[in-house]
Amino acid sequence: MTDQTAPATAAGRERYAARLMNTFGPPRLLLTRGEGAHVWDADGREYVDLLGGIAVNALGHGHPALVEAVSNQLATLGHVSNLFATGPQVELAERLVELLGAGPAKVFLANSGSEANEAAFKLTRRTGRTQVVVAEGSFHGRTMGALALTSKEAYRTPFEPLPGDVVFVPYGDVDALAAAVTDVTAAILLEPMQGEAGVLVPPEGYLAAARRIADEHGALLWLDEVQTGIGRTGRWFAHHSARHSGHSGTAAGPSPVVPDIVTVAKGLGGGFPIGACIGVGAAGDLLQPGNHGSTFGGNPVACAAALAVLATIEAEDLLEHVTVLGHKLRDGLAADPRVSEVRGEGLLIGLDLTEEAAADVATAALEAGYIVNNATPRRIRLAPPLVLTADDADAFLAAWPRILDRAMGATS
Ligand SMILES: *Cc1c(COP(=O)(O)O)cnc(C)c1O
Repeated sequence: MTDQTAPATAAGRERYAARLMNTFGPPRLLLTRGEGAHVWDADGREYVDLLGGIAVNALGHGHPALVEAVSNQLATLGHVSNLFATGPQVELAERLVELLGAGPAKVFLANSGSEANEAAFKLTRRTGRTQVVVAEGSFHGRTMGALALTSKEAYRTPFEPLPGDVVFVPYGDVDALAAAVTDVTAAILLEPMQGEAGVLVPPEGYLAAARRIADEHGALLWLDEVQTGIGRTGRWFAHHSARHSGHSGTAAGPSPVVPDIVTVAKGLGGGFPIGACIGVGAAGDLLQPGNHGSTFGGNPVACAAALAVLATIEAEDLLEHVTVLGHKLRDGLAADPRVSEVRGEGLLIGLDLTEEAAADVATAALEAGYIVNNATPRRIRLAPPLVLTADDADAFLAAWPRILDRAMGATS
C-alpha cells in the first residue's frame, strides 16, 4: 500500500536492496531533508523525528550552529592524522573532562560508540587483568570486541569465537554483581540505562554499589554512556543523576558516582561521527604510545561538530528543556491503558505495551507522521532531538491514542 502511494520511496528501496548489504533489513523510509525535529521523505511527506537518528541528532536536523562549525572547520583544516594535534581536538578533550567533573582525566577520540568501547576494552587489558563483568541485556556495539561485551545471543553466536573472559550478570542485581567480581576482574562495564534493551532503568544506588564492589577488588568501573550521555537525560552524563548514588552521601546529598572509564558517542557529534573514551585519574594513563590508534579519530571537523553541540546545549539551556519535556512526554504516554509502564529520564524514554504490538505501533506512528522505534516486540523507545519543541510533543501525545487504536484496537 505504501509502495503504491509513495513511488519515489519504492524506487529508492529497490536500488537500496540491489546495492547495499542487507544488514539492516528494508529501510522504512527514504529521507531527503530535515529541519529541527522534522524530516521529509522522497515523496514529500513530513515526519516528526522522535528517534533522532537513534539518540544522535541532539540538535535536530540542520541546526545552524552545527552547520557553521562543520563548514568553517572543513574550510580551515579538515584532517591532519594523529601525527599532529589540532585546536578543536584539544579543546574538546578539555571540555569533556570538565563536563564529566570527575577530576583529572584523559580522552581517546574515536569515530563511533563501538570504537570508543574498543579503546576502553583495550585500556582494561592494560591493568594486567583480562576479565570484564558485563550486564545481561547490554548493548556495547557490533565490532568484535564490543560484540564480546554485548549480551544478545542472536548478535553474538554467528561470530564466535569472540574475545573472551567476559562474564554476564543480571542487570540491576547488586548481589549477582558482588558474587561475580573478584580480584581477577579488570573492569565492571554497565550502562546507566540500557537503551537498546528498551530503556531499562536499574534500581536506585546500583551504580554506587558497582563502584563499591569495583573498589573492593581493585577493578575499574566503566560506564557506557554512548546512548545516555551528552544531555540526553537532562544531565551531561546520566550517571550524574542522584538516583545512581544510593544513600552513601553526606547531608549535602549523595555524592555522585565517580567512574574510571566513560565512553560516549551518539549525541556527541549531533550527527557527525565521533566517539570518546574518557579515562579518569590513573585509568587515563593506561594506554601508552603504540597501544592504540585511529586514522580519523579526533579529526578537527568531528571535534568542531562536538564542540558546537556542547556549546549549543549550554546556550539554549537544553538540559532544563529536556528535563521538562521528558516529564511531559512520559506522563502523557503513560495515561493510555494500553501502556503498562513508562521508563527513562529526560528524552530517553522507553515504554511497555500491554501486548507484543511494538512493530505495529511503530508502523501506525509512521503513518500518522511520527518516527518511533520498536526496541523489542513489546517496547517502544523514543530518543528525539533535544531541541524537540513542546508543540511537537503535544501533537504527538494528541495522536498517541489514535496510533494505539490503529495498532492494537480501540480501548472499550
Ligand atoms: C549505540 C551504542 C553503542 C554502539 O555505538 P555505534 O556508534 O553504533 O558503534 C555502544 N553502546 C551503547 C550503549 C549504544 O547505545
